[in-house]
Amino acid sequence: MNNIPFNKPFIIDKELQYIQDAINKGILRGDGLYTQRCHKFLEEKLGCKKVLLTHSCTAALEMCAILADIKPGDEIIMPSFTFVSTANAFVLRGGIPVFVDIKEDTKNINEDLIEKAITKKTKAVCVVHYAGVACEMDKIKDICNKHNLILIEDAAQALGSFYKDKPLGTIGDLGAFSFHETKNIISGEGGAITINNDKLIERSEIIREKGTNRSKFFRGEVDKYTWVDIGSSFLPSDMVSAFLYSQLEHMDEINEKRLKIWNKYDNFLKSYDVSIERPFIPDYCKHNAHMYYIVFENLRKRTDFIDYMKQKNINPVFHYIPLHSSPAGLKYGRTPYEMPITDKIADTLVRLPMFYELSDDDMNFLLKTVRSFLNQYN
Ligand SMILES: *Cc1c(COP(=O)(O)O)cnc(C)c1O
Repeated sequence: MNNIPFNKPFIIDKELQYIQDAINKGILRGDGLYTQRCHKFLEEKLGCKKVLLTHSCTAALEMCAILADIKPGDEIIMPSFTFVSTANAFVLRGGIPVFVDIKEDTKNINEDLIEKAITKKTKAVCVVHYAGVACEMDKIKDICNKHNLILIEDAAQALGSFYKDKPLGTIGDLGAFSFHETKNIISGEGGAITINNDKLIERSEIIREKGTNRSKFFRGEVDKYTWVDIGSSFLPSDMVSAFLYSQLEHMDEINEKRLKIWNKYDNFLKSYDVSIERPFIPDYCKHNAHMYYIVFENLRKRTDFIDYMKQKNINPVFHYIPLHSSPAGLKYGRTPYEMPITDKIADTLVRLPMFYELSDDDMNFLLKTVRSFLNQYN
């Protein structure tokens, strides 16, 4: 019987050839030829002045927290329905995540709840573009400007998505992307930071290079390089960048293929008169088909669905355990208001298999299985 995983890492074209080439060129450390190619590609593709590869989105978010100058006690407003790194990056600087509820439609942070969570200690807002679907950025930007807050976009899932024709990850002061094997464009582990605020560009290079001005030295702008700031080693090996570069060259094709799969799910479920909720894409957003999810009425029904699919060797998955009520979230974060939508969605949302190599045959089998579950349930 077919075994359909939730995700499957893939090679699209010249990944191995480029890795071999990087090895032949004799530069395996960070910032070799392929890292520079990726930087240039992403800067042009996103229309962004500065993009730097990192070894993960987690690392990019940690850089964001340093660049935002988060000090102990500073507060960062963010959703709770997200991956741990969104919060952890700031907690590592002594920051306090302040969790705000999400919207029922997009599962993104509710922009109307941000302002009442602001205190004297609020330093930044970190939004998450869930499933590659844009947050309401105009409103959020206005709030940040009005209160002088730094705006960070956790765009881990959102490479290739847009808010009103603006690429996600380029709207706030800083953005973070992931190339983890579960994302659209992959390099196993990998990430990138976008620096859209000119004032933070120079410092971003220093922080990424262990707190040294080594990038300036390589460009011949200083005679010696030395320790000038805090920092860490955030850059990937050029072998990883070589793999990534091949994927980036096919970025549009990869996202289009995913969109076909996404539409197949959506058209199938649309034609079905059942009480399951499908993803909502606002008019202002063009999305990258990072995820196809459905939402059931309650936890029991979701559990039954996952069990049923697993029996047929199909592997849907759920997430997230909300951060605000997790052990570390209770210890390090603050939750000023109730979180009814977050709690409900965490119990009822399930993600269906979605990956570049998902075949038509597997897709048909998958939809047939979903249909038989729904038929017997309704
Ligand atoms: C995947 C993901 C991350 C972490 O990305 P890594 O590259 O694995 O560090 C952070 N935030 C969100 C919203 C993610 O989906």
